[in-house]
Amino acid sequence: MRILLIDDDPFTLKLLGRQLSNLGHMVVAHEQAGEALPRLERNEEVFDAVMCDLRMPEMDGIEFVRHLARIGFTGGLVLVSGEDARILQTSERLAREHGLYVLGALRKPVAPDALQRVMDQQRPRHARPRASASAPLTTAELDRAIAEDRLECHYQPKVSVNSGAVTGVETLARLRQADGTLIYPDRFITTAEEHGLINTLTRAVFAAALPQARLWRDAGLDLHVAVNVSMDDLDDLAFPEYVVREAERAGVPLTSLVLEVTESRLSKNPLLPLDILSRLRLKQVGLSIDDFGTGYSTMTQLRDLPFNELKVDRGFVHSACRDASLCAIFEASLGMARQLGMRSVSEGVEDAADWLFLRASGCDLAQGYYIARPMPAAEVANWVELWAARLPELMGSGT
Ligand SMILES: [Mg+2]
Repeated sequence: MRILLIDDDPFTLKLLGRQLSNLGHMVVAHEQAGEALPRLERNEEVFDAVMCDLRMPEMDGIEFVRHLARIGFTGGLVLVSGEDARILQTSERLAREHGLYVLGALRKPVAPDALQRVMDQQRPRHARPRASASAPLTTAELDRAIAEDRLECHYQPKVSVNSGAVTGVETLARLRQADGTLIYPDRFITTAEEHGLINTLTRAVFAAALPQARLWRDAGLDLHVAVNVSMDDLDDLAFPEYVVREAERAGVPLTSLVLEVTESRLSKNPLLPLDILSRLRLKQVGLSIDDFGTGYSTMTQLRDLPFNELKVDRGFVHSACRDASLCAIFEASLGMARQLGMRSVSEGVEDAADWLFLRASGCDLAQGYYIARPMPAAEVANWVELWAARLPELMGSGT
């Protein structure tokens, strides 16, 4: 790779330059970001990656990162600093927020194996399609999709961290487009919430998920089925009766139903959700506080609402093993769940490192791409068999 290396300290510059050369990279070194920047702006040379110190006298690393974002640099970025780990992590996160492709952050002195690990991260970008790149649906588009019955539910498994047993699935809504492609919730939930369509949408999801839950039970698969509900669904006092009636009609016990509640905005009348959720809980429907730690899914909700499950947001799970701040927040969330007698679920388990971290954490359930992606209902039984085959390996390592 061709790497642009920037550090105001000549000694570090020479040392890192030599380490990178030893790994087979071509290095162009600068002591000042202000001198390096025009090379990138002129766009005459190709750099696969930029490695940049944070504390520099003229233009510091954070300002440089802002310029990288401005000129749309698409190569990898490695931040290097002798500062404390939190500044390095914050800067890394900031660079990611700018949309830059961050390979990693390294503390000085840089150990050769850490350097190699970070440089090995260079891989094809956009490996995972990000649906959020597209614009949200308009009300008319969403209306039409619902009317034309183009809602499709996919199911993402949850497993016990301790035993590996498959405990349930989360129902995730998708809209099938005319050309066969799928639209993901990040493009239509906000539209639905803002235009009073969320009730229609939620009910369509229940209408698909409950009969499916029954089919699994009949096939001998005892799965909890979770449905996402918005706070906007909880403004109708008849909602508990609706849920009970639909579950009875499908022949699904209320104890195997979980409602994952996301609060993307504050409720207009906070008493309504309290009334509705309390009654659902009395009927033994499971209640999960979703995306805990983000938005309005906070301690106030924990205090006020009768949740029996806490889903730690993926943002505090994935990579928590490598990030002391994430790890602290993650562990505090688990601790709260435990003390409140709630089941804990970690979402965003994306790689082997996340899984090993969870195995040692005492978290109850796990969900994420490392375990399974959301899949059509028809694929779940087959996946359960594949999972059983993977289990000995997954449970053997770790703790
Ligand atoms: Mg959810």
